Amino acid sequence: MFYFDEINGKKVVKSSLLEGLNHFFTTRESIIKTKEPDFKAIVCENKKDICKFLNIDEKNLIYPSQTHTSNVDIAKIGINNYPDTDGLILTNKEQAVFLNFADCTPVIIYDSSNNIAAVSHAGWRGTAGKIAVKTVEKMMKEFGSNPKELKCAIGPAISLCCYNVGKDVYEKLMDTVKLQDGLFEIRKGEIFVDLKTINKRQLEEIGVKDIDVCPYCTVCNNDLFFSYRKENATTNRHSAVIKL
Ligand SMILES: [Zn+2]
Repeated sequence: MFYFDEINGKKVVKSSLLEGLNHFFTTRESIIKTKEPDFKAIVCENKKDICKFLNIDEKNLIYPSQTHTSNVDIAKIGINNYPDTDGLILTNKEQAVFLNFADCTPVIIYDSSNNIAAVSHAGWRGTAGKIAVKTVEKMMKEFGSNPKELKCAIGPAISLCCYNVGKDVYEKLMDTVKLQDGLFEIRKGEIFVDLKTINKRQLEEIGVKDIDVCPYCTVCNNDLFFSYRKENATTNRHSAVIKL
């Protein structure tokens, strides 16, 4: 279940399934990623508050340069630059990892047995490339994670209510799963897809059982989160943050 919490009086969203992992999804008021000049001061302030809250040095609050790939990497102490990376696995306690979103689907993956975690960025391209599954597969290969023991939280994203796509995108997405029921709707001749549930289905099909899906749509709940579609290609982002 998703619920609201606060960091220094500013709203964040958390999943009760990820108990044991330091994690949260930022909202408009706890924003830590932007290119808009008007938001730079608040981002700076929020980053300071979040690093204090997580008890880390600000240079260790890191994010990969997301480019809608399905490339997954492992965070390394002292390395802050992860080009063309849309899934990042965290295995150390010094760093905190965050990925940034405005409509695309955030997926946090937690392996409490091995004490490692990851965040993936699944827009339609990432979802078509099965970025969340690729992240889990890397955790399995490199660290012996067992999909049945993983806990995943799928964060706020543009939802079935608002996400209309072309036929080509729809087909690429449906190709990624065996069972396609409940993943799309046709309304007035337009195709609407449910990226959150497609990611959930992909994870279920490789054996993940515990998956918490955030009910919030970034378009319908634009007062809380950022939406690339609704806000004319805004560069403001909400973030999915993890720290071991
Ligand atoms: Zn919506």
